Amino acid sequence: MEEKTPVVETGEKETVSRNFIEQEIEKDLAEGVYDHVQTRFPPEPNGYLHIGHAKSILLNYGLAQKYGGKFNLRFDDTNPTKEKVEFVESIKADVQWLGADYEDRLFFASDYFEQMYECAVLLIKKGKAFVCDLTADEIREYRGDFKTPGKESPYRNRSVEENLRLFEEMREGKYKDGEKVLRAKIDMASPNINMRDPVIYRVAHMSHHNTGDKWCIYPMYDFAHPIEDAIEHITHSICTLEFEDHRPLYDWVVRECEFENPPRQIEFAKLYLTNVVTGKRYIKKLVEDGIVDGWDDPRLVSIAALRRRGYTPESIRMFVDLVGVAKANSSVDYALLEYCIREDLKLKKARMMAVLDPVKLVIDNYPEDQMEEVEVPNNLENPELGTRKVPFGKELYIEREDFMEVPPKKYFRLFPGNEVRLMGAYFATCTGCEKDENGNVTVVHCTYDPATRGGSSADGRKVKGTIHWVAAKTAVKVECRLYENIVDEEKGKLNEDGSLNLNPNSLTVLTDCYVEPELAKAQAYDSYQFMRNGYFCADCKDSRPDHLVFNRIVSLKSSFKLKKD
Ligand code: ATP
Ligand code: MG
Repeated sequence: MEEKTPVVETGEKETVSRNFIEQEIEKDLAEGVYDHVQTRFPPEPNGYLHIGHAKSILLNYGLAQKYGGKFNLRFDDTNPTKEKVEFVESIKADVQWLGADYEDRLFFASDYFEQMYECAVLLIKKGKAFVCDLTADEIREYRGDFKTPGKESPYRNRSVEENLRLFEEMREGKYKDGEKVLRAKIDMASPNINMRDPVIYRVAHMSHHNTGDKWCIYPMYDFAHPIEDAIEHITHSICTLEFEDHRPLYDWVVRECEFENPPRQIEFAKLYLTNVVTGKRYIKKLVEDGIVDGWDDPRLVSIAALRRRGYTPESIRMFVDLVGVAKANSSVDYALLEYCIREDLKLKKARMMAVLDPVKLVIDNYPEDQMEEVEVPNNLENPELGTRKVPFGKELYIEREDFMEVPPKKYFRLFPGNEVRLMGAYFATCTGCEKDENGNVTVVHCTYDPATRGGSSADGRKVKGTIHWVAAKTAVKVECRLYENIVDEEKGKLNEDGSLNLNPNSLTVLTDCYVEPELAKAQAYDSYQFMRNGYFCADCKDSRPDHLVFNRIVSLKSSFKLKKD
């Protein structure tokens, strides 16, 4: 199977290769199978969307865009057991945030229940469906397996009249859940188990979020989905690989229900990521067990979580493009997603000074009570972002790790006798430190050279280390949250009992961080580079003007290398 290697989009050369879905679509258009392209994203409203769904959304939307077609958002809400209105709203918000514009084409499969019922009646009339009284266990038993052919149901040869009457009675509520089902009459000897008289309607006395108590029979996915597609004039029904074996049934349904110009199903591989949890089932469990702070906990890869963490739609689009469309399942390195957000933010965001693990630095020869402002570029690589003024004074906060009393080799930051650059301000030479009774450094001392304002010396003197700082007097105290992957793939995603093998260090909360006063204005979702510490985003849930909370989106560096071809 062909696997696409991620390549860096340079923007200069247009990618000419077409993925296999595009090739199929172009063939269909050329041969006149379809004269337009219509795609859809069909989520079941039973959870929040995740990065895998983002791939499906952007793929379907992208294809519609590319071929001048249309893209629908359709809720596949045919199973009332797990569906909730809360999820409908979150899914709509996520699709819109990703930029997949479905215009006025928002549909609900449940709006088609009457048409689906009609289709079922048509099948009965054609002798292609029958009401079956076998229990679920019996149906399973009769179905056989890969080696054994199935056995026909004793109810298979009921007359059309009897079937019509029983099916109507099913609808009217005469039967209990599981007492009767409607089955397609196809072929119990088919090598494809999906074709062995699949159940297409079941009795379920349950309220539906959209249709209320109108129905007590509900169509099965394999029957409902092709009909939904056909009703909406979908041309290419793109789904994931596990439905490949269902395709003959999909084709059977649209053919036997006599839809004109029926849609066709094309499968692609699901997107899996290393070191994260994508399955709805697992995410749900983490949420329900209180291990994470809701569906949008920044350690998750639900779209809401990625947004809260500080990912942008652009970065997710880039990620999806780089991953490409494959026909074989594989896992993508989480680091690729991080690469994409770094690339997206690199030139867009101001680079600020923030000290996450502070220790005080006192400049002994700096005038008491004096404050000044130094002007620094917002982004050295993008002059368009301009400059800003940062207050500087006698007492600063610096990172604890930027001072060492006894430095190892190649340590160029502060240690007694060493001169460094205080970023954008002055050269300063370390003179020593103060410690508490436990030997912890409480204050670092230095002297500065007033002739080095702006961070360079007139006499050509060089320093090897540059450290960032925040003036103590004007600093804003904030909380920073650092994240690691929620599961450690190296140790195995699952424990022996099937539970998730969670990384105990997936969240670190730092409550004594100091940032430049400029950051006091950060609003929810605003993001910045904190120099040397990574990209951070103001938390949309917990950040308040009097208590700012920043999520680390991603650190600045990674060992990750993108393959170039
Ligand atoms: P999950 O497996 O996480 O529970 P699902 O397949 O049950 O997801 P649906 O709401 O049925 O979720 O999916 C909506 C659409 O998203 C489907 O077309 C499905 O094929 C697609 N999709 C789901 N997961 C992925 C994934 N990991 N990669 C790509 N597409 C996906
Ligand atoms: Mg599903």
